[in-house]
Amino acid sequence: MKIIKNYIGGQLISPVLDEYLDNVDPSRGIVYSKIPDSTTDDVEKAVQAAEKAYEGWSNTPKEARGAIMIKIADIIESRMNEFAAAESLDNGKPVKLAMQVDIPRAVSNLKFFATAIQHFASESHYMEGLGVNYTTRKPIGIVGCISPWNLPLYLFTWKIAPALAAGNCVVAKPSEVTPMTAFMLSEVCKEAGLPEGVLNIVHGLGHKVGDAITKHPKIKAISFTGGTATGKTIATIAAPMFKKLSLELGGKNPNIIFADCDFEDALSTTMRSSFANQGQICLCGSRIFIERPIYEKFKAAFVAKTAESKVSYPSDPEAKLGAVVSKPHMEKVLSYIELAKEEGGTVLTGGEQVKLEGEYANGYYLRPTIIEGLTFDCRTNQEEIFGPVVTITPFDTEEEVLMMANSTEYGLASTVWTSNLKRAHRVADHLHTGIVWVNAWLVRDLRTPFGGMKSSGVGREGGFEALRFFTEAKNVFIKS
Ligand code: NDP
Repeated sequence: MKIIKNYIGGQLISPVLDEYLDNVDPSRGIVYSKIPDSTTDDVEKAVQAAEKAYEGWSNTPKEARGAIMIKIADIIESRMNEFAAAESLDNGKPVKLAMQVDIPRAVSNLKFFATAIQHFASESHYMEGLGVNYTTRKPIGIVGCISPWNLPLYLFTWKIAPALAAGNCVVAKPSEVTPMTAFMLSEVCKEAGLPEGVLNIVHGLGHKVGDAITKHPKIKAISFTGGTATGKTIATIAAPMFKKLSLELGGKNPNIIFADCDFEDALSTTMRSSFANQGQICLCGSRIFIERPIYEKFKAAFVAKTAESKVSYPSDPEAKLGAVVSKPHMEKVLSYIELAKEEGGTVLTGGEQVKLEGEYANGYYLRPTIIEGLTFDCRTNQEEIFGPVVTITPFDTEEEVLMMANSTEYGLASTVWTSNLKRAHRVADHLHTGIVWVNAWLVRDLRTPFGGMKSSGVGREGGFEALRFFTEAKNVFIKS
C-alpha cells in the first residue's frame, strides 16, 4: 500500500508522530493508501524550513523562479497519463475528465504564473510640481495555501503557483480526502530542483493541519478554497492576527435560460454545467431557471438526456459521471434529495444511488438528479448541495428571475442563455455574482479576476489579482 509522505525542507518525510489516516478509493469504497495524520509539530517544521528558504527564494531573479516552475509543469505534462489516473483514483472522477481538465489546467496554472510574474510591473504616479510616487511589490514572506478535494491538483496549483512566482515560501495543505497528486507534485518539485523549503506540503486533517497553518504567527497570508463554514472559521482566527486573506467559498449558482436562446447549445452545455465532475465544481449551475414558453420542451429534453447519462467506474471511457468523492458526501447529497421531497419537490429523474457490479459494487455512485416543483426560497434552493443534483423552475419575467437568482447568500457564478444582446448586458449587470457567463459555461481566461460576492468569498484570484494578493505594496514618494 502506498504511503504518502510530507514534503518539508525538500525532503519526503514521515509525520512527527508517525500516525496515518486511511485514503479511500471512492470508486471501489476501499482504502488504497495511507496519508500522514500531521499535527502542529509538522506545521512548525514546515514553517522553519520555509523561513530558512525565504531569503534565497525571494532574492532569486523572477526569470529563474519562473524557469523552475516551467520545469515542474513540463514534468507533470510528460507524466499526464499517470497524474490523470492518480487524480481519478483519489477523487472518483472519470479519467477522461482528469485528462482533459484537471491535469492540463494544473500545468497551465504553473506556466501561466511563471510567465505572468515577468510582466507584473511596478506602478508610478507623478504629481505635477511636487514629485513622484513609485510603488514596489515585494513578496509577503511565508504564506499558507489550503485547498479542497473537488479539483485537487488544479486548485492546489492555482494557489501555490502565484505564491511561488511572487517570491514567497509556501506551507500548503491539500484536502485530506484527495492528497495523492499533491504528493506526486512534491516528487516532481524535487526532480525539477526547486530549492529546499520553498514549497512545503503538510498532509492531514483540516482541524489539525489547516488550523495550525491558520494560527501560525509566522504565516502572514492565507489563501483558502473550500466551504463557506470553514472559510468563516479561518477568517475568525486570521482576521485578528491581521493576516491577508483570500477566501474562495461555496456557491449556489443560477443558470438562466431565456426562450430566445440557442436551444441545443443551452441544453448540451447545461448537461455539463449541471453534472460535470458529478456536480462537484463550485461553478456548477445547480438552480436552473427556464422561461415559461420553453419550459416543458427544455424539461423533456433535459430529463431524457440526463436519464441516459452513463454513471460508471472512472476508467470507463463511456462514463459521463464517476463516483462522488466519499461515503459521507454521498450520504449528504442523498439527504438533500430527501429534503427536496419533504419540501414538495418532484424527482423527475435520478434521486438514488447506483450500484455497479464486481469490484466497483461498494463505490459511491449517484444517478444525476433533476427536481422540480420547489419554491425559490426553500432550503434545497438556498443551500449548497455540491453533487449531481439540480432543480428546475419556470419564470415569466426578467425581474422575477433576477430576484430568484439573487436570493441566496452565495454569489459565485451565473450563466445566462439568450440571443438578445441588450438583455445579456442588462441581466449580467444585475446579477450579484463575481462571474457571469453568457451563452457559455466554464470558459476560463487565467488573466481574469476569479471569485465570488457575498458568502462566496473575499478577494479575487487569477492574473495580476493573485500576484497582488501574494505581494505587499509599498509606496515611495520623492519630492522633485
Ligand atoms: P472544506 O471547507 O471542508 O475543506 C477545504 C480545505 O480546508 C480542506 O483541505 C480541509 O481539510 C481544510 N479545512 C477543514 N477545516 C479546516 C479548519 N478548521 N482550518 C483550516 N483548514 C480546514 O471544503 P471541501 O474540501 O469539502 O470542498 C468543497 C467546498 O469547496 C464546497 O463548498 C465548494 O463550493 C468549495 N469550493 C469553492 C471554490 C471556489 O473557487 N469558490 C472552488 C472549489 C470548491 P480536510 O480535507 O481535512 O477537511
